[in-house]
Amino acid sequence: MVDEKKVKEAITLLLEGIGEDVNREGLKDTPDRIARMYKEILAGNDDDAAVHLSKCFHADNNEIVLEKDIVFYSMCEHHMMPFFGKAHIAYIPDGKVVGLSKLARTVEVFARRLQIQEQMTAQIADAIMEELKPQGVMVVLEAEHLCMTMRGVKKPGSKTVTMIARGAFESDSGLKNMFFQMLNCGKETSGDCV
Ligand code: ZN
Repeated sequence: MVDEKKVKEAITLLLEGIGEDVNREGLKDTPDRIARMYKEILAGNDDDAAVHLSKCFHADNNEIVLEKDIVFYSMCEHHMMPFFGKAHIAYIPDGKVVGLSKLARTVEVFARRLQIQEQMTAQIADAIMEELKPQGVMVVLEAEHLCMTMRGVKKPGSKTVTMIARGAFESDSGLKNMFFQMLNCGKETSGDCV
């Protein structure tokens, strides 16, 4: 839960700390603005993936399901700077599936917190394993971290890619290959991907 009063005080102090005049026109409402912004971008702390994923339904078809290019924005907990990119989630149902929007919701739940990309990847996979009990799940996140690209350590636009495989995906390299084939489907010019 974001304590708006505390955040406002802290931002005022931070502005003073970096040598700003907190009373100048442009900064007058900044502490208040940031407090309200944090409420929104850290809302995942008060949300629960289980609530979204519990809205599943029965399915006889247990073929692999892939939802790719789910755009997310998160905050690195080491620098409190944004990292953002795309999530790709595949799972093999075991009689239960969820609406595709629920996978995007699950990503949001874990993105809207102070995060580490590796941890976020695992949390998404574990929540899906726990709630949906599929045969397997695979999560890939690719993201640009402003704490790296803005500070000149790496080139702007460079991406960090993290991957977690659970269940059948963990043990079966054929399934992993299928995942990457499906992920790249559409990126190829020939268009004859399977
Ligand atoms: Zn960072």
